Amino acid sequence: MIQRLEPAPGVLYVVGTPIGHLGDLSPRAKSILMKVTAIACEDTRHSSKLLKSIGSNSPLFSFHKHNIQSRLPRILDHLEKGQSIALISDAGLPGISDPGELLVAASRKAGHEVICIPGPCAATTALVSSGLPCNTFCFEGFLPNSGNTRKQKIAEISKEPRTTIIYEAPHKLLKLLGDLEEACGADRPLQVARELTKIHEEQIGPTISSAIHHFQKKKPIGECTLILGGAPPPPPSNPPTEELIKELRTLIQTGLSASDATRQLAASSGQSKRMLYSLLHKEKLDKAN
Ligand code: SAM
Repeated sequence: MIQRLEPAPGVLYVVGTPIGHLGDLSPRAKSILMKVTAIACEDTRHSSKLLKSIGSNSPLFSFHKHNIQSRLPRILDHLEKGQSIALISDAGLPGISDPGELLVAASRKAGHEVICIPGPCAATTALVSSGLPCNTFCFEGFLPNSGNTRKQKIAEISKEPRTTIIYEAPHKLLKLLGDLEEACGADRPLQVARELTKIHEEQIGPTISSAIHHFQKKKPIGECTLILGGAPPPPPSNPPTEELIKELRTLIQTGLSASDATRQLAASSGQSKRMLYSLLHKEKLDKAN
């Protein structure tokens, strides 16, 4: 496959960097970080360690929520002049609970090309190793710290049928687990992925109560991502008894035995065979009395 020469002039590269293990920096990400005109990062001291480890001398400058107003026009100006800029965050994919979204939106709006160099992300890494359903899921990131907005968000999450991904700082983990237990019940499936890709990586579960039990005994430290199982489907609503009896009678009138009629109705209505059979039995007794 013929590949485009990278970095191309005037392009903003959104580069995924390791969430722990430095070996997870892809060769393509490394090459971009070596060759771009400049790199925008959250914290220059933090990111200079990564750049040093790969021998990159590309100039670094900070881009975070406190200097967006002053930095944005300057970055757009660099792109306009044909410079290539890489955007990285402290770890993982910029834009996922990290600054970057605004720069990407502004670059697109100004007509500049934005290319993502995919890389590690704590959310998807925790999800796929949790053993919980991951074909559909929702990402909540950090929940509101307190007040009604937090309560509402947790109530909403407790009813969500899809697997939910939540980020949390270690010193707030037990409080979050307690709030989730109250809203979702102690037995709701949950995995806490701790220190992913690092030497002390571990998964703690399989339920909210077992995670609480674990972290009450062992103080949470390091980085944690929670994977919460979806809310179980509501039990099938019971159609009125008379309606079920009527359907059973109709089936029996077509020539089915009582046992075949209950089996057929159980399959079509989701009701248990035993319950339908006892309905029939009770009806017979009522008639006899
Ligand atoms: N942009 C990052 C990403 O793509 O994953 C997420 C940045 S967010 C500011 C930081 C949060 O991500 C942490 O508080 C933690 O919840 C989660 N996280 C980051 N690294 C992790 C790791 N190695 N193991 C578990 N969770 C991690």
